[in-house]
Amino acid sequence: MSASRTVYELRCGECGKSYGNQPLSACQDCLAPLEVQYDLESVRGRFTRESVAKGPASIWRYKQLLPIPEGFEPDLPVGFTPLLKAKKLGKRIGANHLFVKNDAVCFPTLSFKDRVVAVALANAQAFGFTTVGCSSTGNLANSVAAQSARLGLNACILVPADLEPAKILNTLVYGARLVRIDGNYDHVNRLCTLIADEYNWGFVNVNLRPYYAEGSKTMGYEIAEQLGWKLPDNVVVPMAGGSLVRKIRKAFRELVTLGLVEDKPVRFFGAQATGCSPISHAVKQGWEHIEPQRPNTIARSLAIGNPADGPLAAKMIAETGGWAEDVSDVEVVSGIQELAETEGIFTETAGGVTTAVTAKLYAQGRIGADETTVICITGNGLKTTDALADRYDAGIAVKPRLAEFDTYIRGVDPALIGTAREEELEVAGGVQ
Ligand SMILES: *Cc1c(COP(=O)(O)O)cnc(C)c1O
Ligand SMILES: [Zn+2]
Repeated sequence: MSASRTVYELRCGECGKSYGNQPLSACQDCLAPLEVQYDLESVRGRFTRESVAKGPASIWRYKQLLPIPEGFEPDLPVGFTPLLKAKKLGKRIGANHLFVKNDAVCFPTLSFKDRVVAVALANAQAFGFTTVGCSSTGNLANSVAAQSARLGLNACILVPADLEPAKILNTLVYGARLVRIDGNYDHVNRLCTLIADEYNWGFVNVNLRPYYAEGSKTMGYEIAEQLGWKLPDNVVVPMAGGSLVRKIRKAFRELVTLGLVEDKPVRFFGAQATGCSPISHAVKQGWEHIEPQRPNTIARSLAIGNPADGPLAAKMIAETGGWAEDVSDVEVVSGIQELAETEGIFTETAGGVTTAVTAKLYAQGRIGADETTVICITGNGLKTTDALADRYDAGIAVKPRLAEFDTYIRGVDPALIGTAREEELEVAGGVQ
């Protein structure tokens, strides 16, 4: 490994055993998840605010802290999504310093999964896999299909049979092989573990999982950089397998270690749908173990009943003094509408979960009005339009004539013209 690269390798999170770099996700002795371990000292002095600022407007500006194989040339401009001050949403829920990290517009497939797939596929190629795949609740399927098309890899993608139609179409269009499995995500994931071994395929969230998971750190780096190299007081993160929430913390800790941000306590808050809330349930109970659930929620992208990183996520959230909450499907839909109406951001059901949970946390007083809070919006609403299917009525078709329009608008929305009209009449002396 050349001196310009970070030295990294897989290590067991429990017993510390080293595994070098290979497609493997669990320790062979204690079955604990493997993590990518870095020698941060090897980049000290070379990874600075200035060097990052000179990098591309994508996750690759942080490549020195990512497990990228030697010789890998970044191609797609993934990530580096907007961080927006959310004044109107903040006002509505009693938050004076609220920010939205908007991965609803992540490139190339409109969810934060583009980050993890970019890192996983770089490793899949280095390990020599020609067929890649994943078990997915939807967004991962879209991203693996798109990015493997571009890289010229074969893709075989397994999903629960009841996935949203848009997420199925958004996988098939890239020419990937999609296999619908008659079962929930946990069934699909178990099957993928067997398939990866049997056929020697690179499954991004199975045998490549440690590398995949590191891609999530880029969301944390971006938040810190976009806040002007400062850490927020709180982060609210949706949880499926529980990986993203942990990796944002890891990103912040690395930036502190390397001196790019000042150290300060950051509290982490996890968000789930009540219909699949094994991690928030554990946090509320004060547990470090997970009781698996059978998912039943419209937030299908978060519907993992037995989350791989659940125990570690629950433990981490508690350690930071944070909390986890969950919301009903009705609240999820309200959350989607609230974010759209206040900030002009159309998120998918997972973002509805995050927005509604954030409102709940402020209402409960768990987050103070003057604290700086970043909420992570991780997916795009155009992929889950079925969640809103019966909410809106586009109305009748009006004839293209002013008189017809006038009659129509007075009928459906008189307030819209009311003010202007009354002022005019007042000037004419017609209204008392
Ligand atoms: C996968 C996913 C998550 C959660 O990711 P984990 O790392 O598995 O917790 C959040 N939001 C969306 C939209 C997702 O697709
Ligand atoms: Zn071990």
